[in-house]
Amino acid sequence: MNHPPELALRIVSLYSDVMNVYADRGNLIAIRNRAAERGIAIEVFEVSLGDQLPPDADLVLIGGGQDREQHRIADELAAHGPQLREWVEADAAVLAVCGGFQLFGRWYRDQHGEIIAGVEIFDITSVAPGPKAPRGVGDVVARSMVGSIGEVVGFENHAGRTYLGPTATPFASVEHGFGNNGADGTEGAVYRNAIGTYLHGSVLPKNPALLDHLLATALSHRRGEVVVLEPLPAPYADRAHTSAVTVARRRSPAR
Ligand code: GLN
Repeated sequence: MNHPPELALRIVSLYSDVMNVYADRGNLIAIRNRAAERGIAIEVFEVSLGDQLPPDADLVLIGGGQDREQHRIADELAAHGPQLREWVEADAAVLAVCGGFQLFGRWYRDQHGEIIAGVEIFDITSVAPGPKAPRGVGDVVARSMVGSIGEVVGFENHAGRTYLGPTATPFASVEHGFGNNGADGTEGAVYRNAIGTYLHGSVLPKNPALLDHLLATALSHRRGEVVVLEPLPAPYADRAHTSAVTVARRRSPAR
């Protein structure tokens, strides 16, 4: 099914040259490929340090980064906060991964006790307990309650423990791995069409249901109507997903 070019999806990729730990740039590559398979035109806006945001967005991506990288983008990201919140309130889609997820919350306290203000899209706060505390590292299997996403798999490596506030909804529940904080069994957070997760890998190439969910919500935003995507086999992604789940179940503690 081909979509008219004037309805090309506007994809805003935030600081991918800075926030790109564990190949999170692969999420944009996966979106380009899947959109091409589905005949969906996309227009990508790469936003880095010093850049303005484009006038609108249907899908916003931000990857993970160590504390040092989060400090590098923090002030500019905070300055973009009002526009990012406006896009989310208008039901644009978001995928925010790990360090990006933390900075899409209220604040992140880094490993040296410094607070980095977030853009307050998710009602979450994140705290890194200190350089000696164990990190949440390993392969994760979780089950999402969002749409028909279901089982998700990925790799996590973070010091920060994320805690959901009273109005926050978890993205998924952890079956194997650490998740938001290693204690409450939650993984990530959801607000309207914004999804935050700790899953790197990158997450989209081996989670086709999540990838199609983001494309469908971004298309719905672009067209101003609910768009349901036709089922489309993703054999390679399915095989990658299955093998990653097998590894995660073998290596990571069940919750
Ligand atoms: N610096 C953050 C932490 O350690 C995020 C790490 C990441 O993005 N992988 O929790």
